[in-house]
Amino acid sequence: MKVPYLDLPAQIASLRREIDEALAQAIDHCSFCLGPDVVHFERQFAEFCGVRHAVAVNSGTSALHLALLLLGVGPGDEVITTPYTFIATSWAISYVGARPVYVDIDDATFNIDVDQVEKAITSKTKAILPVHLYGLPCDLHSLLKIASKHALPIVEDAAQAHGATYQGRVVGSFGKVNCFSFYPAKNLGALGEGGALVTDEDTLATRARSLREHGATQRYHHDEIGYNYRMEGIQGAVLGIKLKYLADWTDARRRVAKRYSQFLANTPLRLPLEPPGSRSAWHLYTVRHPRRDPLKRFLEKQEIGSGLHYPLPLHLQKCYASLGYHTGDFPVAERAANECLSLPIYPELSDEQIDFTCAQIHRFFSK
Ligand SMILES: *Cc1c(COP(=O)(O)O)cnc(C)c1O
Repeated sequence: MKVPYLDLPAQIASLRREIDEALAQAIDHCSFCLGPDVVHFERQFAEFCGVRHAVAVNSGTSALHLALLLLGVGPGDEVITTPYTFIATSWAISYVGARPVYVDIDDATFNIDVDQVEKAITSKTKAILPVHLYGLPCDLHSLLKIASKHALPIVEDAAQAHGATYQGRVVGSFGKVNCFSFYPAKNLGALGEGGALVTDEDTLATRARSLREHGATQRYHHDEIGYNYRMEGIQGAVLGIKLKYLADWTDARRRVAKRYSQFLANTPLRLPLEPPGSRSAWHLYTVRHPRRDPLKRFLEKQEIGSGLHYPLPLHLQKCYASLGYHTGDFPVAERAANECLSLPIYPELSDEQIDFTCAQIHRFFSK
C-alpha cells in the first residue's frame, strides 16, 4: 500500500466537473484579474470567518505584508512572532523594514509561548504576529489580554488554520487584520497561488483593496506606493467552489487525527493535542520523537510519506544571521525542529492507509 504525504489529485478528482465548468465560465468572462468570481469568493470567505471584509490577494505572504503595512509597521519597528513557523510569517516583517523579535514556543502546542511574550515587548514593538501552527489556535485569550494592556494590534497568521475555532469562534476574527493562504497544499487551496486578509474595519479593508492594486484609489490615480497583489479571477472561481466543502473536509481531517491518536497512543511518540476550548483545523498531524530521522527513513521504505515542519527554526536561518540570534536562544523550538514528523493527513486518506501507517510505526518501535 502507498500512503503519499499529500494527495492533491484525489481532491481535484472529486470536484473535477464542477471546477471544469467554473473555469470555462471564468475564461468566457475574461475577468482574469480580480473580477466577479473573486468578489463573490471574498463575500463567502468573510462570512465563513465571521468578519465584515475579506480582501483576496495573490498569496498568503502578500496578505501578511499588506497587514503590516495597514498597521503602519515600518523601519525601526519590532514585531513579536514565533521562530517556529514557515518563513513567510517573518518575511512580512522584513518586507516592511521592521525587525522580527522571536519568542520561544510552548512545548505542548508548538505555538508561541504567551508567558514569554510580555517581556519581549519594548517601546519599538508595533504588533504581535502569532501563528496557529498546524491548524491549532494559539492561546488567543492571553495574547489579547497582553495586546490590549500594551495597546498593540494582533495579526493572526491563520495560513494553516481555515475554520479552526477558539472558544467557539473561528480564528481570523480575533486580531485586527488576519491572514490566510490558499497555497494548493493548504486546507483550502487554489489552483496556484492565493491568499486573503480579513478584517472588521472598513477603512483598513478599503486601503488594502487599494494597496493590492498599485495603490490606486481610482484608475491611474495612485495616492500611495502600492503592489500588484491581485488575486486571479480563476482562483476566485475555484476557491468559491472549494469553500462549500471546507467544513466537511475539516471534519474528515478530524476523523484522521482521531484515528491516529487512538492507534498511536501506546507508542513512544508524543502526539499532538487540542487544549480544551480549541478545535484544530488539522492542517498537519505532527508527532515528536528523538529518533525522528530513522523513523522517517523507515516509513519511506514502506512507501509512507512524511514531512518536516520545520527542520530549522527561523532564528537560525542564514538569511536572518544579522539579527544576532544563536543556537540555544529558543531551546523549545530547536528541540521541536529536531523531533517533529508530520504524518499524512487529508480528507481523502482512507482508514486502511491510516491503519497501515500506524502499524508500520508500531513495527519501527518494536524492533
Ligand atoms: C503557507 C504559509 C504562509 C504563506 O502563504 P503563501 O500563500 O505560501 O505565500 C504564511 N504563513 C504560514 C504559517 C504558512 O503556512
